[in-house]
Amino acid sequence: MIAVELGMANQYIRDLSVNIRRGIREKVRRGIYFGKAPLGYYNEPRLRTIEPHPQFFNTVKNALEHFATGEVSLTAFQKELAAAGIIGERSKKPLPLSSIGALLRNPFYYGVFSHKGEIHQGVHVPMITKRTFDDIQMALVKVGKTRHKRAEDKGLLYLNFATCGSCGFRITGERHVKKSGRRFHYYRCTHKNKEQRCENRSFVCHEKFAEEVKRNAELVVIPDEWKEKFLAKIETWEAETSQEKQQKIDTFKSELTSLKAKIDRINNGFTEGSIDIAEFKELKNPLVVQKNDLEQQIVALEGSKLKRLEPLRNWILEANKAENAVVSNNWLEMKSFLQKVGSNRLLRAQTLTVSFKKPFDLLARTTVAVRSTNDVSLQSSEWWRRRELNPRPKSTNQPRLHAYPR
Ligand SMILES: [Zn+2]
Repeated sequence: MIAVELGMANQYIRDLSVNIRRGIREKVRRGIYFGKAPLGYYNEPRLRTIEPHPQFFNTVKNALEHFATGEVSLTAFQKELAAAGIIGERSKKPLPLSSIGALLRNPFYYGVFSHKGEIHQGVHVPMITKRTFDDIQMALVKVGKTRHKRAEDKGLLYLNFATCGSCGFRITGERHVKKSGRRFHYYRCTHKNKEQRCENRSFVCHEKFAEEVKRNAELVVIPDEWKEKFLAKIETWEAETSQEKQQKIDTFKSELTSLKAKIDRINNGFTEGSIDIAEFKELKNPLVVQKNDLEQQIVALEGSKLKRLEPLRNWILEANKAENAVVSNNWLEMKSFLQKVGSNRLLRAQTLTVSFKKPFDLLARTTVAVRSTNDVSLQSSEWWRRRELNPRPKSTNQPRLHAYPR
């Protein structure tokens, strides 16, 4: 009797677990994430779906978008959440940084979720766009690198900022207090290179270093006058290209339709048993990502402004913001600007040389060309001459903002 009952119980458990797995699979198939809702959402108990949290959805959304700017540290993000009342349920303390990291990497927030290594398009309301999610991933890399705050606090602003032009080693900063009580900050090569004796034996005082930083920053700024001219030009292009934009939306929409049909065929193939789970994942995952990308691109295009010119506009605004940093002697901003736009910063014989990244290298050449002449019309043509900075596709014949410098 006992054996029979045990057997029945086992069978019951086996059926139950099969049913549960089937239930989960069905849920996943319909795009419903199962399990505990991520922060900013809650599990709706009756419908068994995941819904935006009435109190915290916008808080988390704002914090994520703030973090995506790349100007917020992990701890600042943590504090921002804690200030809004998002703390550990039991600990009553700010969320640990490990959970914060997981949160920032969770693709659920832009509308998909992963189950058993497979990416699914979710039915839940996305909190952020795919673009914002990508920006967050970039910002995460960036915050991992900024760890020199303490040196800045001590006033050694340019510690670890440059490398030695002679031996390639780090330029360090030192403080020195004179007998009179005056403080001096200066920078020098660490002379750590054992194989090659460093020729660079000189010290650079803080003021001279700052002057060099400013001289370099001045090469890659856009003055207010030219900011206005460029932005006005962009606006006229945006008006001209709205038709082009509509054509693109139509193309994306037809691509989307065929993509959806493909996904349906794969789903059917799997449920009918003509393809196995491995093939299913291999075929479907990239399509789901593509589909999501397409949908986001359509949304972005349908948005009020033409996003394609945004990089150019941002570049102009960034270079103009740097101009303001130079004018107002904002040393910290000039420094981080050069770190951002310069790939290599070499110090040699009291001179700082920065290798500028694209498109700032062209801006530097333009600045030099403009400075070399006093003729206003020549200067003006130099400013209009930076063709390849224009993100416009090659197929269009419309005028460009920039031309190659000579
Ligand atoms: Zn050196």
